[in-house]
Amino acid sequence: MELPDFSQPMWFLVATLIIFAVVIARYLLIAGLFYGIFYLWFPAYWQQRKINSKAYKKDQFKTEVKWSTVTAFIFALSGAVTILVWQKGVTKIYTDIHDYPLWWLPLSLIIVLLLHETYYYWLHRWMHHPKIFRMVHKVHHDSNITSPWTAFSFHPLEGILQAVFLPLLLLVFPMHLYVLITQLTIMTISSVVNHLDIEIYPKKFHKHFAGKWLIGATHHSLHHKQFKYNFGLYFTFWDRWKKTESPLYEKLFEEKTTVKPLEG
Ligand SMILES: [Zn+2]
Ligand SMILES: [Zn+2]
Repeated sequence: MELPDFSQPMWFLVATLIIFAVVIARYLLIAGLFYGIFYLWFPAYWQQRKINSKAYKKDQFKTEVKWSTVTAFIFALSGAVTILVWQKGVTKIYTDIHDYPLWWLPLSLIIVLLLHETYYYWLHRWMHHPKIFRMVHKVHHDSNITSPWTAFSFHPLEGILQAVFLPLLLLVFPMHLYVLITQLTIMTISSVVNHLDIEIYPKKFHKHFAGKWLIGATHHSLHHKQFKYNFGLYFTFWDRWKKTESPLYEKLFEEKTTVKPLEG
């Protein structure tokens, strides 16, 4: 199939709109599914794992969906630019899985997650600088108690800073198109899980040899509460290494994953 020339403004716009539709649909679907399962359909079951008991601010979800829609548009623009430069042969995106060894498929996914983690951890610390915070990152922290809808609730400036990472990386880093799509889907699911405000990981997961490296709802809820800890995106290693992991994390995780005896 011959692809249209995306350097023509009309086709560039079409590409942007199609990617926007995919990104926003993926966000609404995944956040909606988690909201349904954990808040609407089985609330009694998950209630004791709810991290904050305070009610959500009026219209919070509406505001979060609004900012997330703006972010989706920024991500779509960055996706369209990536397609455009891909067509010009500038990026390292490939579509034939045999262009590189097969083991590169999983390895490239792991490496891109680690690089994204590193980029976001340091960007995130910088965004908490008092001079930067108000302008760039405050919108995200307006959600004191997060929800699945908080996942992409960012100020456009933060959205841009997040959106430049992959296109720049893809200039030098070979990635199969499907690995790229997998990475973006993992990013969405991870952000929804981390903002769920309900701990979904099993008991003792925070001490498990693999589990302790994964960020979840308890971990990230402490970032929204304490601001100066837990800056990570998917993994805890930067926070552990730079000693920015919240001292309250283990205790809160244990509390939320321990079944309380029935009252009365
Ligand atoms: Zn923050
Ligand atoms: Zn957050």
